[in-house]
Amino acid sequence: MLELRDVGKSFELHHQHGARLDVLRGLDLRLHAGECVVLSGPSGAGKSTLLRVIYANYRASFGAVHVRHAGRWLDLARAMPHEVLDVRRHTLGYVSQFLRVIPRVPALDIVAEPLLQAGMDEREARQRAGNLLHRLNVPERLWLLPPGTFSGGEQQRVNIARGLIVRRPILLLDEPTASLDAANRDVVAQLLAEARADGSAVLGIFHDEDMRDRVATRLFPMQALEAA
Ligand code: ATP
Ligand code: MG
Repeated sequence: MLELRDVGKSFELHHQHGARLDVLRGLDLRLHAGECVVLSGPSGAGKSTLLRVIYANYRASFGAVHVRHAGRWLDLARAMPHEVLDVRRHTLGYVSQFLRVIPRVPALDIVAEPLLQAGMDEREARQRAGNLLHRLNVPERLWLLPPGTFSGGEQQRVNIARGLIVRRPILLLDEPTASLDAANRDVVAQLLAEARADGSAVLGIFHDEDMRDRVATRLFPMQALEAA
């Protein structure tokens, strides 16, 4: 599904000419179908950065990020922009910690959008989006409203619904349950179990220990690098 080889990431420090901040170094990780690997480690260890490198928001500075895509292996550290978009559409799902609110777009449409992109007709896409929002206890009176004024937990559940509505082989999750109550964490754990049973592989960050115990098949410990 996913194989990282000797992955490193360093950022240029613009205010100090030529200086770089090393965040990730020498990471090797394999992720197989049906697994849920949880990134663990202190704040600043580079967990979110690693997910962004895999999603190709950031380009890896070293090493290779191989994903199994359309029957072959593709190195996202070297992929073309159109290949990255294709991988995101079909292979990689990413749920960020916060919903990126698009002004004026109602919650139902935000969730239905990946289905429409996949070619589903509008009626069925909205129906499915509604079913998932219902499972995640987002009240129906909110579905046609833009989520800008929703509570943190409501926004996060819209975000999760959008990320899980299309079944993708690899799911990247950055603290998706941080602002959820116990009942909604249960729903998310159940949705992830279903995705794994369908053959998806999950790579996620969960600070909540109870959630981690429930979803993780393996932990991947990370440490902050010493300043170079
Ligand atoms: P937390 O548990 O607090 O979310 P984390 O393990 O997810 O922490 P990251 O967000 O990956 O940590 O950040 C790791 C380090 O990388 C931090 O020191 C951060 O300042 C640095 N960093 C992240 N993104 C950038 C960037 N775009 N430019 C410069 N430094 C960055
Ligand atoms: Mg983080």
